[in-house]
Amino acid sequence: MPEITENVPMEEEAEPETFAFQAEIAQLMSLIINTFYSNKEIFLRELISNSSDALDKIRYESLTDPSKLDSGKEFYIKIIPNAEEKTITIQDSGIGMTKAHLINNLGTIAKSGTKAFMEALQAGADISMIGQFGVGFYSAYLVAEKVSVISKHNDDECYRWESAAGGSFTVQPIPTPEDFGRGTQIVLTLKEDMVEYTEEKRIKDIVKKHSQFIGYPIKLQLEKEREKEVSDDEEEEKEEEKEEKEGEEKKDEDTPEIEDVEDDEDGKKKEKKTKKIKEKYIDEEELNKTKPIWTRNADDITSEEYGEFYKSLTNDWEEHLAVKHFSVEGQLEFRALLFVPKRAPFDLFENKKKKNNIKLYVRRVFIMDNCEDLIPEYLNFVKGVVDSEDLPLNISRETLQQSKILKVIRKNIVKKCMELIVELSEDNDNYKKFYEQFSKNLKLGIHEDSQNRSKLASFLRYHSSSSGDELTSLKDYVSRMKENQTQIYYITGETRDQVANSAFVERVKKRGFEVLYMVEPIDEYCVQQLKEFDGKTLVSVTKEGLELPEDEEEKKKREEANAKLENLCKVIKDILDKKIEKVTVSNRLVSSPCCIVTSQYGWTANMERIMKAQALRDTSTMGYMSAKKHLEVNPDHPIIETLRKKVDADKNDKSVKDFVMLLFETALLSSGFSLEDPQTHTGRIYRMIKLGLGIDEEDPTMEEPATEELPPLEGDEEDVSRMEEVD
Ligand code: ADP
Repeated sequence: MPEITENVPMEEEAEPETFAFQAEIAQLMSLIINTFYSNKEIFLRELISNSSDALDKIRYESLTDPSKLDSGKEFYIKIIPNAEEKTITIQDSGIGMTKAHLINNLGTIAKSGTKAFMEALQAGADISMIGQFGVGFYSAYLVAEKVSVISKHNDDECYRWESAAGGSFTVQPIPTPEDFGRGTQIVLTLKEDMVEYTEEKRIKDIVKKHSQFIGYPIKLQLEKEREKEVSDDEEEEKEEEKEEKEGEEKKDEDTPEIEDVEDDEDGKKKEKKTKKIKEKYIDEEELNKTKPIWTRNADDITSEEYGEFYKSLTNDWEEHLAVKHFSVEGQLEFRALLFVPKRAPFDLFENKKKKNNIKLYVRRVFIMDNCEDLIPEYLNFVKGVVDSEDLPLNISRETLQQSKILKVIRKNIVKKCMELIVELSEDNDNYKKFYEQFSKNLKLGIHEDSQNRSKLASFLRYHSSSSGDELTSLKDYVSRMKENQTQIYYITGETRDQVANSAFVERVKKRGFEVLYMVEPIDEYCVQQLKEFDGKTLVSVTKEGLELPEDEEEKKKREEANAKLENLCKVIKDILDKKIEKVTVSNRLVSSPCCIVTSQYGWTANMERIMKAQALRDTSTMGYMSAKKHLEVNPDHPIIETLRKKVDADKNDKSVKDFVMLLFETALLSSGFSLEDPQTHTGRIYRMIKLGLGIDEEDPTMEEPATEELPPLEGDEEDVSRMEEVD
């Protein structure tokens, strides 16, 4: 055992350990420090918001284990400015951080938001957006040259984290400060020109502006001076006492004066000398006494108040796009306030991240953030609060899942969200903004929520062959349907241009039917579930079985074409064999000779493309789901007509095989498929080019890429005969 020498104190302060900030965080900090930015006050909002989160956490834990509050029952946030020392301290009685939390949360573990925020800044975003990216703490460096975080968690000793930026921070155990059972104190040593943040009025204004709806008392703690009147006698007595104790109190400029005139016992006037002294005291003022906004009558709340509340709830820097404030009464009672933001957050569909969506309160007491069971996933963009009168206070996440009350609340919330979207859709401009941001969610909803499917379908908007630059709703489409039209036509694909120019829509358009353009990957999933709208089936123009309404004459023409091309279809099927399910005469083509359609229940070309692009997906479905292809030939096209003549003249004409292969591969490409063996196709094309240019096939300087027979060019009699010689 080591000897303890006399002059080493037993409780020597442990040395601070130094850590390097994770690279991206260090980068973020220097960006925050060096970017010219005037709206620095938002640092206070961010730190208060962190305190509020920390209080939420300890309150939630204490619901199931009240002993967690043995370290302090009061929930509060205190702001303590100190002008002399140029510091401002934000203290909370929240959950606090252990040593490991301090090291991980404040500097060594990067979050997706760190990079995303820097990218957003580069793209012109504003620093005040920081809170949305989950790195709000670092906004302290907008105003501070040094930040100390003193934190005490129930499970650990008290530690101090400290950093003056510059790439590193230190962590060190310290004795727990007095009156500090649990929580976090963030001490900002302000930069020289930032001392305004110690001013009472400045702080009050900032808190009112950004944090008035925080659910815990925010107390401003100030050392103040007040004048106190004491009679001379008292004062003398005090002075004597003081002298006895040799205690040095504050020196006051005594201003004895004749203050009061009192009646003495005998009724005689007697002058009494008093004097004023100044004494210092700690003043505490609560800055956010507003009662929870959702408990108030909606008629009394201004839109600015909703906006402020929304911003404080979500850390958003912009106001909401739409709001719904309602209460439900009867068997079950609750109030709720739901908001639709103006923008989707940067990580809307990032699965693992917990979302800060709907906060659950029970009789005004905050229970939990992000209560997933309150709202289905596809509505994860809706933010707000729900305050139930019926749930028990000490409810845990697990029991919540089984709660019938919660299920009823959820149903009501979904209903109200639908109403909210209907209201939004009544204003074209706003709805456009909404749709741009959240159409994916609506489509996901159609996929997931069978009960509200038709309602959600009425929210969809698409470009179409006759909508021009505007989007159209399915309802409007139906209103424009032709008299004999019974189906809604759509096409899925990669871009609007691509689908608009695709061979599939040619005839449908030419015949005067409107085609909806669905160009987002999620449309494929959505339309699979949707199937119909207003009693009309949705039909893909790229799938088999497209039956356009036709009159007698058109019908006759089709039947004739079928008969005429029967032989050609058979020959083509024999050549393509397993590459294709079936060859039929098309009723959808105008200027293309042929196209590839897919069977009704398999994937479309677009879906096949989407599925192939998904790395790591299970490849087993690829086999049976992958598009079952049908080749459709255009009876009115000269290529098909010439080919028909060739086949009818000589069933065994060898050149037909190459033509068919080339047509098939080209149709695959133009129908949105990829080629399995692009080399062979390229070979065929090069040979066509050579033929076109009149290059001699035997020329030894030319590379020989083709492996199959050389296809002669149509109508080039000389070449055809030469080909036949070669063969
Ligand atoms: P966010 O709060 O959005 O997660 P921050 O960068 O603001 O991101 O904070 C990082 C983490 O540090 C928080 O997630 C939290 O775990 C911890 N933290 C920050 N402030 C406090 C606090 N006052 N009390 C307890 N933990 C805190």
